[in-house]
Amino acid sequence: MKRLAILGSTGSIGTQALEVIAAHPELFAVEVLSAHSNAVLLTEQAKRFRPNAVVVTDTTKYEVVKRALSNLPIKVFSGAESLTEVVRWDSVDTVLGAIVGFAGLHSILAAIDAGKEIALANKETLVVAGEIVMAHAAEKRVRIIPVDSEHSAIFQCLAGENWHTIEKVILTASGGPFLGKKTNFLVNVKASHALQHPNWTMGAKITIDSATLMNKGLEMIEAKWLFGLKNEQVEVVIHPQSILHSFVQFNDGSIKAQMGLPDMKLPIQYALAFPHRLQNDFKRFNFRDFNKLSFDQPDLKTFRNLALAKEAMEKGGNMPCILNAANEIVVQAFLTNRVGFLEMSEMIEKTMEKISFVSSPSLQDYEHSDHEARIYAAELVKNGQLSVY
Ligand code: NAD
Ligand code: MG
Repeated sequence: MKRLAILGSTGSIGTQALEVIAAHPELFAVEVLSAHSNAVLLTEQAKRFRPNAVVVTDTTKYEVVKRALSNLPIKVFSGAESLTEVVRWDSVDTVLGAIVGFAGLHSILAAIDAGKEIALANKETLVVAGEIVMAHAAEKRVRIIPVDSEHSAIFQCLAGENWHTIEKVILTASGGPFLGKKTNFLVNVKASHALQHPNWTMGAKITIDSATLMNKGLEMIEAKWLFGLKNEQVEVVIHPQSILHSFVQFNDGSIKAQMGLPDMKLPIQYALAFPHRLQNDFKRFNFRDFNKLSFDQPDLKTFRNLALAKEAMEKGGNMPCILNAANEIVVQAFLTNRVGFLEMSEMIEKTMEKISFVSSPSLQDYEHSDHEARIYAAELVKNGQLSVY
């Protein structure tokens, strides 16, 4: 029986993880649930899964959650620091990191520090501080099992292989809802268009990142750290059907891929049950439904966020952290119609130029860079003075 802390249980990954857990009550027990502000769903989940504790990080929601669970033996905590405490409990075996953004970093570091197995969906943790996170995990002999579908695919391809024989990994990207579009179209798109992803239903932030291709840029950085690769060993190919979830090419030229219908429950289940595979009733892939699987190069000139993320990866140091912080700010602004689709790349680029570069950052340097980049990007959003219109 694995005892789980589900951080971000009310989100897209969190709710799907609870579906997986509910299907295997003999294998998984929920020890902790956490959410930021969705008190209604968090209390519903707590009543159903009966964890030992829930954490609502938004402190203004503490009272309502506490009251709703008052006649159950469930501890209620609030504030971000509570997360870093509960993940250390002896009663927790595995932590699912499904919080979105930089906000997920500290709880993952605390869980690693306490020697917990990590199932990681929160890619921003590795984008921001991959070097520190992976070094810390190696030191504590902690396994980080990817939940992101591309990285899960790579991880599955690597089962039984020597990781030193990887020549390169190739991440597949669906291309998102604006595949093939050019800037004259993109200049006018609104959040409501960008939120309609063709193959995946996900949280708002990652859905916008998929439309701008920033998601694939973040995933390149995520792959570099997870699998200990050099920048030039990570590539991207557009594959609109999202059936092949990524490839590994080995040093003898052999290529392995993992494939299946796009359904996040599969990589979530693989990560939670690792090293076992569990039987399930998820819909199966059928070759008759797909007479063509296609592959193409990404358009880096139009989808500049992917080029910026590559640049940040190559520059290293705190640059991916700056890129990520600026991206979190502009995506929020885009979601509330305060900036245009193309302006997002301009603002990220300007923030990358502005914030001081640190080549070997400490955790404090990352916190500082994140903070500075957010302030600067928010100013750009407020002034809205950019050239693309
Ligand atoms: P989501 O927005 O649906 O859910 C986010 C969760 O995090 C919610 O439970 C929310 O309450 C919590 N949260 C938000 N801000 C927080 C904060 N400041 N402090 C504490 N908790 C906070 O997001 P999602 O789509 O489930 O994505 C979660 C993570 O998984 C992201 O890093 C994303 O990139 C990654 N991921 C998601 C998918 C997917 O299909 N949704 C696929 C691959 C990777
Ligand atoms: Mg992915």
